[in-house]
Amino acid sequence: MFESLSERLDSAFKQLKGEGRISEINVASTVKEIRRALVDADVNYKIAKDFTDRVREKALGEKVITAISPGQLMVKIVKDELVELMGGTEAELDIKSTPSVILIAGLQGSGKTTFSGKLANFLKSKKGKKPLLVAADIYRPAAIDQLKVLGEQIGVEVYNEPENKDAVNIAQNALAHAKQNGNNIIIIDTAGRLAVDEVMMTEVANVKAAVKPNEILFVVDSMTGQDAVNTAKAFNERLDFTGVVLTKLDGDTRGGAALTIKYTVEKPIKFVSMGEKLDTLDVFYPERMAQRILGMGDITTLVERAQAQFDEEQAKKLEKKIRQNQFDFEDFREQLQQIKKMGNLKDLMAMIPGVGKAIKDIDISDDAFKGIEAMIGSMTPYERNNPDIIDGSRRKRIAKGAGKDIQDVNQFMKQFDQMRQMMKMMNKFGASGKGLRALG
Ligand code: GDP
Repeated sequence: MFESLSERLDSAFKQLKGEGRISEINVASTVKEIRRALVDADVNYKIAKDFTDRVREKALGEKVITAISPGQLMVKIVKDELVELMGGTEAELDIKSTPSVILIAGLQGSGKTTFSGKLANFLKSKKGKKPLLVAADIYRPAAIDQLKVLGEQIGVEVYNEPENKDAVNIAQNALAHAKQNGNNIIIIDTAGRLAVDEVMMTEVANVKAAVKPNEILFVVDSMTGQDAVNTAKAFNERLDFTGVVLTKLDGDTRGGAALTIKYTVEKPIKFVSMGEKLDTLDVFYPERMAQRILGMGDITTLVERAQAQFDEEQAKKLEKKIRQNQFDFEDFREQLQQIKKMGNLKDLMAMIPGVGKAIKDIDISDDAFKGIEAMIGSMTPYERNNPDIIDGSRRKRIAKGAGKDIQDVNQFMKQFDQMRQMMKMMNKFGASGKGLRALG
């Protein structure tokens, strides 16, 4: 799903890598690349342009803090905009009244019948409801049979009248049947056509008028890109539906429909379908979808936590010390403490894209810094501020005080030294080693 868009966005962000700060110049090419990626994913040009205009504006206004790179900051800005574009928060299904009526509409082949089955299954197994599926496709007997098969698989009753050629009448009868039968949810699967068609629209509109549904869900195949968006517009004008269901997201879909339907028709996507199996229905969360598109763990939270923890003044002071080759154990300890304040170490690492998957079975203890802190703690303040004076006999004393072996202290001193060498090198070549990056 959205692989190509994800890759393109990723390479757009990489353009900002190594840049010390976000400027008018370096943001321009990234933003242009993001716009191209969106357009190629079937996002309408105007929407893509408005989107990247907002991204540019935000990027230039944002406080760039030293603990995160401009590339990471850009990812967060784009993610926030993607979430907004897709509707912000998730939209709940209105199933409060008893019975609640849900009308399913869309083109033939969009996945209406499959979705009706999935929804019935979802409401039955996850919400404890007793749904009734209604076959209101009066043109295709095969559609009725298909629904019957699905109903049997999930143990949900299917209402149908094979001889009745009046969809409105079938829907009304089904409602009466549901009330008698104690069904608290009625899902009406209507007929679709291959293209938007007046007869079909009128029929669905008549069913709507007759049964006054709580929800009208428009089902659309995400593989159809811009067509999906145009079809949504046509259906919405006639039916004023309450939500969208995007199907076939498991396929090689480019993403345009998911990204722009909400913006275009001002109706939320409520569900996505990612397969033919009846248990693959997903509630649509704009946030999670954005994260998937960006191929990220949860960099948002990581960045937010960093922004909350690292104060700009302190960061500047640190940067100056690094530049003057004065980074000492006191600074190191301070950095460790700030990282710890950001949260559980394993959780933090899992927020880094790609890392979550890699470390999921590895035990990473929250005490990872304990030994290091103990060693720094058993140094005198003078030693902490002057790492170079720590000789053999001082090391012995530090090891004893920290309950460590002399080898541990030696190894730590060596690592610290390597880190300082690296900082020196970065200074020499003009790159500023700052905050977390200096530690990594
Ligand atoms: P309808 O004509 O709108 O009722 O569409 P159907 O429910 O009959 O679906 C049309 C075809 O798409 C069928 O072959 C379904 O198995 C398939 N289909 C439906 N939803 C999905 C989905 O989310 N992913 C995939 N891969 N196929 C789907």
